[in-house]
Amino acid sequence: MRFTRLRLSGFKSFVDPTELVIAPGLTGVVGPNGCGKSNLLEALRWVMGESRPTAMRGGGMEDVIFAGAATRPARHHAEVTLVIDNTDRLAPAAFNDADTLDVVRRITRDAGSAYRVGAKEARARDVQMLFADASTGAHSQALVRQGQIAELINAKPAQRRRILEEAAGISGLYQRRHEAELKLRQAEGNLARLDDTVGALA
Ligand code: ATP
Repeated sequence: MRFTRLRLSGFKSFVDPTELVIAPGLTGVVGPNGCGKSNLLEALRWVMGESRPTAMRGGGMEDVIFAGAATRPARHHAEVTLVIDNTDRLAPAAFNDADTLDVVRRITRDAGSAYRVGAKEARARDVQMLFADASTGAHSQALVRQGQIAELINAKPAQRRRILEEAAGISGLYQRRHEAELKLRQAEGNLARLDDTVGALA
C-alpha cells in the first residue's frame, strides 16, 4: 500500500483544489515561512482520521476549513483525498476491491466529518484501522514534523518502543486488543448483573 496523491480543497490555506503527486521514497516539503508546509502534513493526518483539534493547531475541528481572507470569503466545507496504490491488495476486506483506493474525508460547518473509502461510506474507526494495519496513520512516526528529530533523540525508552512497534506493523493489533479488552469488561459487567438478577430470583 503506497500513497500516490494528496488532493485538498478548502482545507486551511489550500482554498482552491490542489493535487500533489507523492513519488516513491522519502518526501520532503520545502518552502518559505507560512506557505502551508505544516498544513500539508496536517491534511495527511486529518484524512487518516485525526480527531484532536489540538493536533491540527486549532481550537475546534471546523478550524481546518478555509476561514476566509481579505479578498475571499470563508468556505463551508473542506475535503482531503488520499489516493492509495492498493495493487498489493493489503487493504481491509471491506474496501479491498480495487487497485487504487481514494480515502476521502469531508467536513461541513455544523455537520461534522464524513469519510469515504472508494465508493463506500466509512466510519472514522474504519479509516483509522485501515492505516494502522498499514503501519501508518495520523500519529505515524513516518510523518516528521519540524523539530521532531530532536524530540526523537531525547525520547524516553517507552516512546522509542512505540516507534519500533509501529515499524514492526503491530499498531493495528494493539488497537484491536484494546477494543477486545473493552468488550470483555462490558461482558463481565453484564454477567455480574445477570448473577445478581438470578440471585434475587432464586
Ligand atoms: P513555517 O515554515 O513558518 O512553519 P508553514 O509553511 O509550515 O510555515 P503553515 O503553518 O502550514 O506554513 O501555514 C500557515 C498559513 O496557513 C498561515 O498563513 C495561516 O493564516 C494559514 N491558515 C491556517 N489555517 C487556516 C484557515 N483555516 N483558513 C485560512 N488560512 C489558514
